[in-house]
Formats: sequence, C-alpha cells, structure tokens
Amino acid sequence: MKTTSMTFLRNALIVIVASGAFVLFVSSAVQTDGASEVSTREHMVMAVLWYQSAAEARALQYQAFNLARLMLDNDLAQTTREKKRAVVVDIDETVLDNSPFEGRAIRINRGYPYDWERWIDLSQAEPIPGAVEFLQYAVSRGVDVFYVTNRKVRDKNGTIENLKRKGFPQVEASHVYVRTEESSKEKRRMKISETHHIVLLMGDNLVDFSSVFEQKSVQERNNEVDRLKQEFGKRFIVLPNPTYGDWEDAIYEYQTSLPDSVKNLKRKAALRGF
Ligand SMILES: [Mg+2]
Repeated sequence: MKTTSMTFLRNALIVIVASGAFVLFVSSAVQTDGASEVSTREHMVMAVLWYQSAAEARALQYQAFNLARLMLDNDLAQTTREKKRAVVVDIDETVLDNSPFEGRAIRINRGYPYDWERWIDLSQAEPIPGAVEFLQYAVSRGVDVFYVTNRKVRDKNGTIENLKRKGFPQVEASHVYVRTEESSKEKRRMKISETHHIVLLMGDNLVDFSSVFEQKSVQERNNEVDRLKQEFGKRFIVLPNPTYGDWEDAIYEYQTSLPDSVKNLKRKAALRGF
C-alpha cells in the first residue's frame, strides 16, 4: 500500500514537473518567435562586443590620445598663441565608455532613451583608455580642457560627478558644456573660441568637429570627410564608435523614430554588395 501511494506520488510529481517544463517551453517559444521586438537589438551585438572586448578598440583609443599628445606638443613647441590654448572633447564614447548601457539594452531589449538617465545618475561610466592621462597632461602644460556634450542640463551633476570620480581634470561647471536649446555644438565651440585657441577637437561623431557634417546624408558625410581629410589626425582626432551615432542616423535619413522593422530594412538596403 505504502509503495503504491509513493509510486502514485512520484508519477504525479513527474507529470507536474513535466507540464511545468512544457509551459515554460511554450512561453519561451512565444517570447522568441511570437514577439518581433525580442530581436530588435540583435543587430547591436557585434558592435557592442567589438567595443567591449576587441583589444583593437582599446588600441585605437590609445592611438587617438597618443596622437593628440603629439599634436598638442607640436603646437606648444612651434607656435605662439595670443589666446590660451584649449582642448575640446566630447564626452560619450570619447572620454567615457557607456557600453554597459548598450550591453544591457540588448539583454533587456529596450534601448535609448529607456534608463539612459538612470545610467547617467549612477556616475559609474569608466574612462576611455588614455583619456584621463592625456587631459591631465594637457592641463599640466597650461592648456584648458572643455567638455562639450549633448547630455542634457538635468544630467550635468551626474556627469560632473562621474568625471570627477574617474580623475578627469578641470571638471567645473564652467568647463562642462551640456546641451541647452540645440544639439549643434557649433555655438558652444564658438563661445570657447572667444577666449581660447582650440588646438584640438576630439570626438566619436563628426558633428563633434564641425557643423558641416550636421544632418548630412551618408554620401555627403563621406564627401565632407574627403574634403577635410587634412584635418584628421591634426586638429580633428576621431575615436571609434560602431555602436551608434550620426553615421547610423544618416542611414535612416535622420528619421530616428521609425519603427524597428523599417530601420532594419533601411540597414539592409544600405549594404553594398557585389
Ligand atoms: Mg560621443
């Protein structure tokens, strides 16, 4: 009798566990097959992995700051400037690494702007390799540093806190220019130029260098880079960022609120083949 009831209990348990597993299997199949939004960030995986794990990314970042130092040394050695010298840097993906935000966005399948401000308020973005050392060096040579970012006014305190924690120099409110009324950085660059000679501009997006790149098509952006090719590695120092930027928005013709399915089609259509 005892053995029979134990067998019954065991069988019942097997049925319960098996049906539970079946429900789990079905629900996970629905999640991955039924809802198209589950895979909307899948196209980001390789870019973010490259950014986070390719030693080549790190090497390019050191290369950018080594070159910046060389160019700054050249300017200091060879020229007299009437105004105080300045180095102007963008923040995101130029001096701070937000790739953990992107990595999480892929995992939870919710991208910018979701949780972006929460990430900023954590003030825990790591410095881009070489950034702190170069900017400290610039200040040690009597050069001012300005941070020009399209983070918003509400993000300014969290951003300053982050930069301070990581050892960046001259992180005072007057040296951190956030976005106020417009995304273009031209007016902010002009404001700095009133008092300073800008020796170098550093950024991961062409709009960090000049307004000639703003709202331009893929072809126009490339044409402008060809036209200004002498500036790169001299006054303009570019940091790598395959994860997002105007390069991507240009593919969508700056219609950034298009549905993911349409963006996916536009990405595929933009690929060159043979
Ligand atoms: Mg940036």
